[in-house]
Amino acid sequence: MIDIGVNLTNTRFDKDRIDVIARAKQVNISAMLVTGTNVEESKQAVSLCQQYPDYLYSTAGVHPHDADRVDKNYLEILDKLAQNDCVKAIGECGLDFNRNFSTPENQQRVFSEQVILAKQLKLPLFLHQRDAFEPWFNILKPHIDDIPALVSHCFTGNENELQQCLEAGFFIGITGWVCDERRGQALRDIVSLIPLEQLLIETDAPYLTPRTIRPKPKSSRNEPSYLPHVVNMLSELIGCSKEELIQQTTINSEKVFNLRIKDA
Ligand SMILES: [Zn+2]
Repeated sequence: MIDIGVNLTNTRFDKDRIDVIARAKQVNISAMLVTGTNVEESKQAVSLCQQYPDYLYSTAGVHPHDADRVDKNYLEILDKLAQNDCVKAIGECGLDFNRNFSTPENQQRVFSEQVILAKQLKLPLFLHQRDAFEPWFNILKPHIDDIPALVSHCFTGNENELQQCLEAGFFIGITGWVCDERRGQALRDIVSLIPLEQLLIETDAPYLTPRTIRPKPKSSRNEPSYLPHVVNMLSELIGCSKEELIQQTTINSEKVFNLRIKDA
């Protein structure tokens, strides 16, 4: 199985990053996509990937939370970073009007610029969206056919939003949000609408620890080796076998991100 969203450069992994990666291998994770959330983290993601060729891949981009803090030349740097073989998508980028850590104006500008960059570089988009579906979708709409693949990472939207994404051919990333009996119910109710061919799985570690892990882990930190818990819940909700879910999401990930996977 492939974890398409791991924030492995997060400081919460500083003490034991090597062990975290080793544990991921132990549960048969065959590849991971390290999320770049700003210029600095995207650079760090590339260096980390270079230490694990054909196992770690990354995205290069600026998260909407960081849109207020980009330098003038950030696009050039992202462009340059994307020339590395390990960079498989532009992102994480998008809009987040839930917390507005950056102004909506800056978020929309920085997002639009990265959409154009993905189009120029012919790279997929790794997308974030929270409480901003309409403006987010409107920015993407004119470019959908010119971008190799669009991934709505950590999807938590409603049924109408899901249908619009599916009809536009987006891939839908599902995290441990679906393992949360409190706030994940609405998502649980609609995940079976996602065709297996458009489904991707991710932990979004160190965030969103699956609440279905027993015994409960001592640390609140999520890690990629917990991905099987997302698989368990999803296969139950969708009504397919775990094997089928793993096989299809692996094929999807390899196709979307153009990965070369070593046999484990
Ligand atoms: Zn995100």
